[in-house]
This record gives sequence, C-alpha cells and structure tokens, in this order.
Amino acid sequence: MITSEKVKNAAKKFGADLVGIASMDRFEGAPKQMDPRYINPDAKALIVIGLRIPRGALRGIEEGTYFLSYSSQAYGSINMIYNPFILYHLTRYIEDHGYEATPIPNDYYDWPAIEYHSGKLKENWSKPVSPEKPAPDVFIHFRIAAFCAGLGEIGYSKIFLTPEFGPRQRFACILTDAPLKPDPLVEPGTICDRCMMCVKECSAGAISTKETIKIKVAGKQLEWGKLDIEACSKGFQGMKPYTRYNPFIGEPSPAILYSRAIEGGRGCIRACMIHLEKQGKTRNRFKEPFRKRKTWQME
Ligand code: SF4
Repeated sequence: MITSEKVKNAAKKFGADLVGIASMDRFEGAPKQMDPRYINPDAKALIVIGLRIPRGALRGIEEGTYFLSYSSQAYGSINMIYNPFILYHLTRYIEDHGYEATPIPNDYYDWPAIEYHSGKLKENWSKPVSPEKPAPDVFIHFRIAAFCAGLGEIGYSKIFLTPEFGPRQRFACILTDAPLKPDPLVEPGTICDRCMMCVKECSAGAISTKETIKIKVAGKQLEWGKLDIEACSKGFQGMKPYTRYNPFIGEPSPAILYSRAIEGGRGCIRACMIHLEKQGKTRNRFKEPFRKRKTWQME
C-alpha cells in the first residue's frame, strides 16, 4: 500500500531535498483561478517537492564577479531540468501503485490565465471550456502550496522560508488521488522574526516597510510586505544595460531560459539567509559565514 512515508522516500531517492503533503481541504477559499481542485476534482493530496538553491550559486553575485551560476544552476536548471526529472519519476512511482499523479512544474510564466504577480485575468488569453470552470491554465501558487504542505512559511519578504534552507529552494507539485496523510502546518512566525533585513538590503526598495498583504490559508493568517514587482524585476535584472547600476555593458543571453540576475536577491535571499544562519535557524550548516568582506551594491 502506498503511504506518505513511501512517497517521501521515493521523492528523496529521485533527488528531492524537501517533500511535504497537503490535504485538499487546505485550499478551501482559494480563488477559482488558483484552486488546484479544479485541475483534478478527485485529488486527495498535493505533494510539494523542493530543491535547494546551492549557497555557492550565490557566491559570484556576492563577489560581483560571476553571475552565470545563479541564473543557470539555481534558477533555470532547477525549474527546467531537475524538478521536472523528479516529477516524472515520482508520477511513475505513484501510478505504478494504481493512483493517478498529475505533475505540475514550476514553469508559470506563459500558460496561466492570470498574470502571476497581479492575479488579474490576462486579456484575450483563454476562456473556460464550460461556465462553472476557471479559464485555463489554472495557476497554483507554489509558496502557498508549500505552506499547505507543511514545508515552512512565507517570510516578510514574500520568499518562502524552510527550517532546512531558509530562503534557498524552489518548488514543484504533484496532484494525486492517492489517500496520503498530510503534514502538520508550520506556525507563521516560527522562522521569520521580522528582522527586516530583506527590506533594508534590497537595493531596489521593492519590499514595503508599511504596507502588507494578509491572507488566510488553511485557518492560518499569512502576512508579507507588499512587493513592488516592477522595482523587484529592475533590481534583479540590474536595471537596464549601459547604466551605472549594471556591471555589464553588454547584454548576456538567458541561461536555460533565465536571464541575468544582477542583484540576485540581495535582500530577500542573501540578507535573509545571512540573518537566519546567524540565528542558527537553518539546518543546512556551513563551516564559514557567507559574508566575510564588504560587498558591492547597486546605487
Ligand atoms: S530577512 Fe528577516 S524579515 Fe525578511 S523574510 Fe527573512 S527573517 Fe523575515
């Protein structure tokens, strides 16, 4: 008989660093366009797998000398190669036990009916196949799915934080009709202590200090700082080429479909990781601290 423990062991054998399981009732109240129950109304569980972002993939950005590693190995490869590989093998494992498994990759840019950052329906994109259904494609919010699967919490930065890696992981999901036991939720506030280092260190000023977004998920109140997505995107990309903000005069091509990450999550990932490591809040430990000398920063 298939069990949560067997599924988790299989996922880890296939290469997952993290595996959590959500029951479908935890999505009660989700907006129609974001409700996984419309993808499979008979699903009994949503499995969320996580792969770590190697700390060393951020090293070249921290030093200001090597930017390819994060875009290629910690973004594109995880979302486009490693996670789909694990999804494929885990769906085969579950289906060999007689249950259906729908792999849901973290490849959300083009297909969903809503803009992933605003939640608004795209114009002239798609229409429901029948009136009671949402327009395709339904968009699963991976961080909320990870919360529902008990993997951690959404920090003030809106980045997902886990006890294993802090802000360093990416997710993908599998919907299944296998009756798997869900994991307990992580109480919001367990990892994020509102130190606000993410806000202070973001060069683009993308995370609001005052305005927050509050939502209720699975009976828990989640809250994070309002994100200015345009500022976030500009900071991440290093503003435009040929400006004083960007160390590149040329325009590097995307690496495994992901374009340049100039600031590479200076606040939301690096500052948060440094803070959580200092607090001893991450289980993935290193012999040396991440920041050992003065770092560069966009003006
Ligand atoms: S930097 Fe501090 S406030 Fe921001 S998400 Fe991390 S722990 Fe929370």
